[in-house]
Amino acid sequence: MNVFEAVKQSVTTRQAAEHFGIRVGRNEMCVCPFHADKHPSMKVDRRFHCFGCQADGDVIDFVSRLEAVSPKEAALMLAQAFSVPYEDKEPPRRRKPRQETPEQQFRRMERYCFRVLCEYRNQLGRWKRDYAPKAPEDDWNPLFVEALQKQDYVDYLLDTLLSPDMEERAALIASYGKEVRTIERRMAELEAGAAAGRDGGHRSRAAAPERP
Ligand SMILES: [Zn+2]
Repeated sequence: MNVFEAVKQSVTTRQAAEHFGIRVGRNEMCVCPFHADKHPSMKVDRRFHCFGCQADGDVIDFVSRLEAVSPKEAALMLAQAFSVPYEDKEPPRRRKPRQETPEQQFRRMERYCFRVLCEYRNQLGRWKRDYAPKAPEDDWNPLFVEALQKQDYVDYLLDTLLSPDMEERAALIASYGKEVRTIERRMAELEAGAAAGRDGGHRSRAAAPERP
């Protein structure tokens, strides 16, 4: 039984009204909280009905309107106040897909690291080609330097990620996961920068030195 059914079955509107401090007379009449009522014109039993303003509904409608909360919040409020047991089917169903097993988490990190490192490796290849100094006296572009420095290192990380030894892969992810995130962020920034000024920055510096 869900919380709505359970509350409606266990708590009358009269009990709820009294719980929220509304005085109910012997004939189950009370002053209506939903209009400026001088004489009790609301009847509260299992449900409620006001003969003045025609407000009408069940215990959940009553509390929802009285406390200005959603019907679900009202039901939960009542379930707690009156210790009504209920089965909540929704949270487990919603939580399940979110909760990854350590195994799934590991696989996801593995795929993530592999994807980022592959992209980075391709990027290094492009830098090495595009930013290579054209003449011996040219300054080396920092991206060209990075390509030279990092290519072997990234190859090593990718090889390790392809290793059949799971412990080795797990150790790599544990020690380099953070660095992989940094690489991903940096590539995103570079890409945003490149999109902002296609012909500015490194590209023109790399293309400019055509002098003899
Ligand atoms: Zn009323």
